[in-house]
Amino acid sequence: MLIVQKYGGTSVGNVERIEAVAKRVIESKQEGHNLVVVVSAMSGETNKLLDFAAHFSKTPNSREVDMLLSSGERVTSALLAIALEAQGYPAVSMSGRKAGIVTDNVHTKARIEHIDTHEMQAALAEGKIIVVAGFQGVTHNGEVSTLGRGGSDLSAVAIAGALEADLCEIYTDVDGVYTTDPRIEPKAKKLDKISYDEMLELASLGAKVLQSRSVEMAKKLNVNLVTRSSFNKNEGTLITKEDNIMEQPLVSGIALDKNQARVTLRGVTDKPGIAAVIFKKLADSNVNVDMIIQNVGHDGTTNLGFTVPQNELEMTKTAMQELNASEVVEYDSDIVKVSVVGVGMKSHSGVACKAFDTMAKEGINIEMISTSEIKISMVIQAKYGELAVRALHSAYQLDK
Ligand code: ADP
Ligand code: ASP
Ligand code: MG
Repeated sequence: MLIVQKYGGTSVGNVERIEAVAKRVIESKQEGHNLVVVVSAMSGETNKLLDFAAHFSKTPNSREVDMLLSSGERVTSALLAIALEAQGYPAVSMSGRKAGIVTDNVHTKARIEHIDTHEMQAALAEGKIIVVAGFQGVTHNGEVSTLGRGGSDLSAVAIAGALEADLCEIYTDVDGVYTTDPRIEPKAKKLDKISYDEMLELASLGAKVLQSRSVEMAKKLNVNLVTRSSFNKNEGTLITKEDNIMEQPLVSGIALDKNQARVTLRGVTDKPGIAAVIFKKLADSNVNVDMIIQNVGHDGTTNLGFTVPQNELEMTKTAMQELNASEVVEYDSDIVKVSVVGVGMKSHSGVACKAFDTMAKEGINIEMISTSEIKISMVIQAKYGELAVRALHSAYQLDK
């Protein structure tokens, strides 16, 4: 079999951990598999590098940020290759460029356009274990790009797709995908299987166990995706097609997104086309807008609220200053988004009502709501985030 294995930050957090990963990779090699291993930077490294940059500028040039951040993954990929060779297993590390990962030129959140696999194919043909630096690619202009936070998951899935690997294993510091973050709710249960769509919702709503774009790509390319722990041999969670799951629960999980901020525009002129102007400006600035609320207008003006990722708040502020479309703009980073996800919701009523009821019982005020066929999201004050997760987890009996 050809297997792509990805090891996250904690799994390669120090030399002892890298040694343990090398052992695990060698075990798979001894079972006769061909291996491409994707690694993250050591845990904390990417944040440390960002802090260095923040020392000089609130809005550092994104090309330079990519030069900086891509170094973290290069370190671990080279170290793992050295560790494998030291054990007598031929290995070669590859940067994103060497692995042929070509992206667009949106620095710090580049999209993979295609993967030129010939260098990887050649190394595999020589029987080498390939160790790819995750999270990075190369633009058409030959610049280093990075794929957004958590992007090593995407590197692994995209490589698995391009090489038509039999399996893509994401090794992390928990046993798999749980009904909610087990660090918030110790009663969370591990799921044996979850559908691509539910995983996509959970991931895009804050469950960082998998990066959402990696799930999107796994679904598109039909990649056999498993998450499991690098610290033990427990069976992980299979992410698969909905048809492969016999019994669909009403609710599969609860997600918490702490990386949200709310923007409120007060006194926006209430005329056709104004929303288009505002959101076009944000789109042009590469800001990802999520929930949007517009109030009923009075006296020719209205209020407009929306959420953006916290790390895009500076870009949002600049865009809103340039646009100058309202009398007042308020920014609030002290909020979180808590969400209930489940494909079973499609065919049941009353699921949303239970979520609102649970918040009411806990005395938590819901500030924004959005729903889709398979999720309910609520914006609440940050200090209630974890309480809300635990209350919802028990209300939907996910601990049972
Ligand atoms: P890695 O460094 O391996 O990529 P991450 O920190 O990105 O690991 O993702 C793993 C973390 O995701 C876990 O430690 C856990 O706290 C968090 N997490 C959030 N939601 C979930 C969930 N539903 N199931 C499992 N883990 C979750
Ligand atoms: N090191 C990057 C990050 O911290 C990518 C990753 O770990 O997947 O976001
Ligand atoms: Mg991750």
